[in-house]
Amino acid sequence: MFSYRHGFHAGNHADVLKHLVLIAVLRHLTSKPTAITVVDTHAGAGLYRLDSDFAGTSGEAQDGILKLLASPLAAEPPPLLADYLEVVASFNPKGKTKIYPGSPFVTESVLRQEPRDRLWVFELHPTDSKALATHIDQLEDKRQVGLRREDGFEGLRALLPPPSRRGLVLIDPSYEIKNDYGRVTACLQESLKKFATGTYMIWYPVIPRPEAHELPRRLKTLATQAGKPWLHATLNIGQDPERAPTHTPGEKVQRPGLTASGVFLVNPPHTLKAQLQELLPQLVEVLGRGRGQGHVVESGG
Ligand code: SAM
Repeated sequence: MFSYRHGFHAGNHADVLKHLVLIAVLRHLTSKPTAITVVDTHAGAGLYRLDSDFAGTSGEAQDGILKLLASPLAAEPPPLLADYLEVVASFNPKGKTKIYPGSPFVTESVLRQEPRDRLWVFELHPTDSKALATHIDQLEDKRQVGLRREDGFEGLRALLPPPSRRGLVLIDPSYEIKNDYGRVTACLQESLKKFATGTYMIWYPVIPRPEAHELPRRLKTLATQAGKPWLHATLNIGQDPERAPTHTPGEKVQRPGLTASGVFLVNPPHTLKAQLQELLPQLVEVLGRGRGQGHVVESGG
């Protein structure tokens, strides 16, 4: 527990997928006059320096946001991508990308003062929750965001249903412990009973582990049994030929790093599927590195 630090991964391909979908969902929810409530059960540190020791060591943003920004697609982005790139740019000086916003700040940048939208963020890591508290403290309207240094799966219970009966729950664990997969499913099942009309967004890594493989299947079954529409999208950038695992006896085996991730949504915006069907092939074209690259967009319910 607590060996995961999002700073190593900030701005990677998985963040690109997650945050652009997050913005699309928030735009949809804030297009109506009613105030919304957003709960981010696994928030991270909130803001990340791309030139820090963390990000510099992993270099993951190089294969994510930074590669995307250097591509021709960034010059003429489709609306969904344009919105995401504008949000990232709003945290940076013109023409430079030094800061990458995590989900609490991506969300906060879209929320409205009038009507008064609300954001609850949970973070358990002692260092990251402290950093998050400092970043929230610097916000102009910090009262809009409530930070709890507690278990997000547990804490969510007390917040549902939100008074506005309109909102989003983002569940983005680090899956450091196998238990997280089961907790995600249990959390969604319980939450849907309390707040059936809410939008839910779950991120997960596409990795060769039975629990990860099973998760989208379980979530589809759960949403279908609850009679709720769902949307599932994955982005796979393929294996970097230079970092592919080597199998020569005696040679050091290199880890290829995360190549793919997925987002699963319950009660998604109805326009999102078509937008992702247009955008994801373009993202694969730009971020793809080789064997295995591709995407999935599917829906049901
Ligand atoms: N949502 C963030 C973003 O998109 O910028 C990234 C979050 S990161 C994948 C997962 C975070 O959850 C880590 O910072 C980790 O310390 C924290 N965490 C792990 N287990 C937790 C739990 N049960 N409750 C709250 N936070 C947890």
